[in-house]
Amino acid sequence: MQLNANIPDGPLAQKWDRHRFELKLVSPANKRKYTIIVVGTGLAGGSAAASLAELGYAVKSFCIQDSPRRAHSIAAQGGINAAKNYQNEGDSIWRLFYDTVKGGDFRSREANVYRLAQISNDIIDQCVAQGVPFAREYGGLLANRSFGGAQVSRTFYARGQTGQQLLLGAYSAMMRQAAAGRITLFPRREMLDLVLVDGKARGIVTRNLINGELERHAGDAVVLCTGGYGNVFFLSTNAMASNVSAAFRAHKKGAFFANPCFTQIHPTCIPVHGTYQSKLTLMSESLRNDGRVWVPREAGDSRPPQQIPEAERDYYLERKYPSFGNLVPRDVASRNAKELCDQGKGVGETGRAVYLDFKDAIQRDGRAVIEKKYGNLFQMYAKITAENPYETPMMIYPAVHYTMGGLWVDYNLMSTVPGLFVLGEANFSDHGANRLGASALMQGLADGYYILPYSIGGYLATADLPAVDIDHAAFKGDAAAAQAKIEKLLAVRGRRTVDDFHRELGHIMWEHCGMARTNPGLEKARHMIQNLRGEFWENVRVPGTGADLNQSLERAGRVADFLEFAELMVIDARDRQESCGGHFNEAYQTEENEALRDDAHYCHVSAWEYTGVEAPPVLHKEPLVFENVPLTQRSYK
Ligand SMILES: Cc1cc2nc3c(=O)[nH]c(=O)nc-3n(C[C@H](O)[C@H](O)[C@H](O)COP(=O)(O)OP(=O)(O)OC[C@H]3O[C@@H](n4cnc5c(N)ncnc54)[C@H](O)[C@@H]3O)c2cc1C
Repeated sequence: MQLNANIPDGPLAQKWDRHRFELKLVSPANKRKYTIIVVGTGLAGGSAAASLAELGYAVKSFCIQDSPRRAHSIAAQGGINAAKNYQNEGDSIWRLFYDTVKGGDFRSREANVYRLAQISNDIIDQCVAQGVPFAREYGGLLANRSFGGAQVSRTFYARGQTGQQLLLGAYSAMMRQAAAGRITLFPRREMLDLVLVDGKARGIVTRNLINGELERHAGDAVVLCTGGYGNVFFLSTNAMASNVSAAFRAHKKGAFFANPCFTQIHPTCIPVHGTYQSKLTLMSESLRNDGRVWVPREAGDSRPPQQIPEAERDYYLERKYPSFGNLVPRDVASRNAKELCDQGKGVGETGRAVYLDFKDAIQRDGRAVIEKKYGNLFQMYAKITAENPYETPMMIYPAVHYTMGGLWVDYNLMSTVPGLFVLGEANFSDHGANRLGASALMQGLADGYYILPYSIGGYLATADLPAVDIDHAAFKGDAAAAQAKIEKLLAVRGRRTVDDFHRELGHIMWEHCGMARTNPGLEKARHMIQNLRGEFWENVRVPGTGADLNQSLERAGRVADFLEFAELMVIDARDRQESCGGHFNEAYQTEENEALRDDAHYCHVSAWEYTGVEAPPVLHKEPLVFENVPLTQRSYK
């Protein structure tokens, strides 16, 4: 299959306008004849469902949680980017585009990123109109702060609860349409399979998580907004229910998976503190606006931070990157923290932490100002660690946070399966090899509020879509296969818990496919994953039955998918013989230990085709062309 990204011709700044004009339209009277299935109710799914229903389509909305407003997006803390230039600092659509392409280490599509930057300003207007309570300056304008990889303040925020407030906006818009009868809500449902009829996405099979019933739902198109797969590492900042299953099962039905090894390790998380911990907590990147990152100059210095004099501290980000200082992008900040901890300069009980210190900011601005900006984050830190960050520097360490890889989509956000659209973190789209802070919310909402409503119309207006119902053989076959898989999981009756397998998989991934990767390590990891997967199907214990609420069964299905998907991640990482963004192969680094790209051989998107559980996937390459931002070695000095 030849990958076609369907990027419109013409000058960069005119592509989206031109494309919108050229896309075929569905007339207002005909929209109600189409049913669109939207899986996921985070910022991508919520905004898509609301916008499609507002246009007049019949929407069916699905999520795992008991309410759409509990999607993982609710956790987003720091903010959302837009190129409004309210600060008069010289920001522009072009600068946001440039920063994002550079931040992603030149592994994203220029046309997509430019469109994202263009739409960013509309998103803020839309959310303000919905009543999202963004922070404001004294004069009434919306306030902005800085995030990594940018030298301007373009991040809009609602204290440390930006995701929650944006999600409440999308949820309100959804509920307005639910009340109007154009959205039917299906909470507590898990999509188990994608149903294809004549090669097109025409429905899904779901499990009702309360009573265990399998259900079949038909539609004219399916929109996956099912989030990222960071939980393949077991420990991550993601919500416990975040998973790869919907995307991976679509992958098995023909949707190519792009750049699965591109994972983001966030530099500022509360360090791991115990073997049985199941969740990691993010301390928002916004804290790096005022907090200073440091370690003791000497390895093995175990004095409490207050006893280490200024001259014996290494503010290593400020020293190495004077232009960006503590606000270098996440991949750079994370790698530096690891490097210093590897040198024995890490702090805390485990030596796997660095300090994030607010002493200077408090002295300069006063405690009240810092409390106003970050109060809820400080409170969260204090509750978890029992330390007072106003008096003692926070201890932080990198943790898995976001996945830039995802299902491959073209400029219309359509996957390689006709009629299957993929939005938000679930697609590979706009972030290349490293996502800049505050740009996931921007992308999810751009996809849902502004891009899909046009592009899906273009598909529906031209596709041949004869009526199908849930008694079609394809639906019956997929539902029977889903039921058989549930029974197989329950029948193993082994001795190890699902979490035990998941934890071991997470260790393998963190060790060999995490912040630093080596070829021998990746090869070893592949064998370890295959062996663990083999043992899982012989020795996993899933208590209970499939006929009612059974969270072990839910997790077992997701971990079974992670055990297959993890192998794809290491295959992708092994294939990419360069370092770029979050993918750091130790064999490819500059003299200063920065990621060293190989543009001659790897300036492409790697899109993998599924061929079977034990069969090697087939690689398809989408070349990336840079006509507007010259390919250069990234520098934040
Ligand atoms: C702690 C934290 C803080 C963050 N802060 C920021 C920030 O400040 N700024 C920023 O830009 N980004 C931030 N991010 C990233 C950002 O929050 C996410 O990338 C984004 O919210 C993902 O949105 P989404 O709509 O794609 O997916 P999600 O919000 O993850 O939603 C996924 C949806 O899919 C549903 N689902 C999943 N699988 C299935 C299935 N099989 N069947 C049915 N439904 C399914 C879920 O129920 C849910 O409704 C943060 C992330 C974390 C973890």
